[in-house]
Amino acid sequence: MNNAPSPETLENRITLSTAAPIDTVVQKDILDAVDSLQDHSADLLKRLVRHRSILGNEQPCIEEMASMYEALGLAPHFIPIEEEKLTDHPGFSPPMMSYAGRTNVAAVHRPRNVTGRSLLLQGHLDVVHEGAADLWASPPYDPAIRDGRLYGRGSGDMKAGHAAILTAVAALRRAGMQPAAELQLAAVIEEECTGNGALATMLALPKPEGCIIPEPGPGWDALWVSEVGVVWAWVTVTGRPVHVRQMQRGINAIDAAYVVVEHFRRYEARMNEKGMIHPAFAGEAHPVNVNFGTIEGGEWNSSVPTRAKIGLRVGVMLGRSCRQVQQDIREVVASAGADPRLTGITLDLVFRGFTADACLLPPEQPIARLVQEVHLSLNDEPVRPYCALALTDARFYALYSDTQVTCYGPDGDGAHGIDESVSLASLHRVTRTLALAIANWCGLEPIAKPHR
Ligand SMILES: [Zn+2]
Repeated sequence: MNNAPSPETLENRITLSTAAPIDTVVQKDILDAVDSLQDHSADLLKRLVRHRSILGNEQPCIEEMASMYEALGLAPHFIPIEEEKLTDHPGFSPPMMSYAGRTNVAAVHRPRNVTGRSLLLQGHLDVVHEGAADLWASPPYDPAIRDGRLYGRGSGDMKAGHAAILTAVAALRRAGMQPAAELQLAAVIEEECTGNGALATMLALPKPEGCIIPEPGPGWDALWVSEVGVVWAWVTVTGRPVHVRQMQRGINAIDAAYVVVEHFRRYEARMNEKGMIHPAFAGEAHPVNVNFGTIEGGEWNSSVPTRAKIGLRVGVMLGRSCRQVQQDIREVVASAGADPRLTGITLDLVFRGFTADACLLPPEQPIARLVQEVHLSLNDEPVRPYCALALTDARFYALYSDTQVTCYGPDGDGAHGIDESVSLASLHRVTRTLALAIANWCGLEPIAKPHR
């Protein structure tokens, strides 16, 4: 969709009060610059996707991002995650591993004269494990373009969002302009397990007036309007090991784990009953999901197993807090422990990772309205709202700050699955919107030394 409307059309449609109305010729220059940077944007995305930035392995990708900020003429600084400074915050989640040598990175542009509103453009750089790499059509960390989509783990979720941010800012510069307000760029870790990267970044940076996180849509350009919360937990089942020839005298921990799973499935069914669902999620058939994500256990095929450990993710509906859901989980485990089929079994429960509340991302907030109006001015269709059964780092701003936050991102597919991809045409659309949204939110001033 490159058929840009005339500047007159833009002016008519973008009616939000801006710091200083953006000259329509400048808007056209910015859009032309975004168009001329399409290949550059895909190259940035490929560079990021090549990093296997799974939990504990993020730092090379963070350093790559630092060099990308530098290439925009900005000075990057690394933001450490100091657990002791976060533990008392209501958004803190118990970490999965040490933060030694693992940081976020940010860069802040400051204008000569502040006339607009400050803005944070943030995304996460961590990705989830690629899963069964042999099932991918092309290797997950070797980005490949097929039929207009770029494939690779993290392509959509959410390295494309970073490519959009970097390209939008580069386009302003190419048009000879810079934001006339503080513009913060941030790349964080641990979005996929705790959110502590985003929390540390929020506490480290000056409070911005608006924040846009370009998380991908599920197969379309999307504006996130609500998201569930998440609690992670592990249940360890301990049975009694014996030789299989005396099997009836032992207690099989793996068989017992199935019974625990049954109790959680019953809880899940209850949580999806009509009365339990917040109106924002009324259109969803099954909004609260319990996922058994990992299982380990047993020692030997001919021994009744001693232990089985299930790692699970439990959705938190709006209106219910993650602390309440933790209590629910304790009760489910207690009810499983009282199940006559589990007599003689010990159940241990541990909480680690996500302790995250649900939130709304109101589309009528000025930052979200701006994104919608700019998107509509550049495309035939309005951006589609997305009610997510997943979560993002946006919750930190939505719940614990008065910074307006919205998530708006490109058509991603296969996130957390096989053959993850992002549409490059969609990435381009989102980048165009982002560039004009920055211009309209922050206002613009000419770069002191013109770049062209
Ligand atoms: Zn994401």
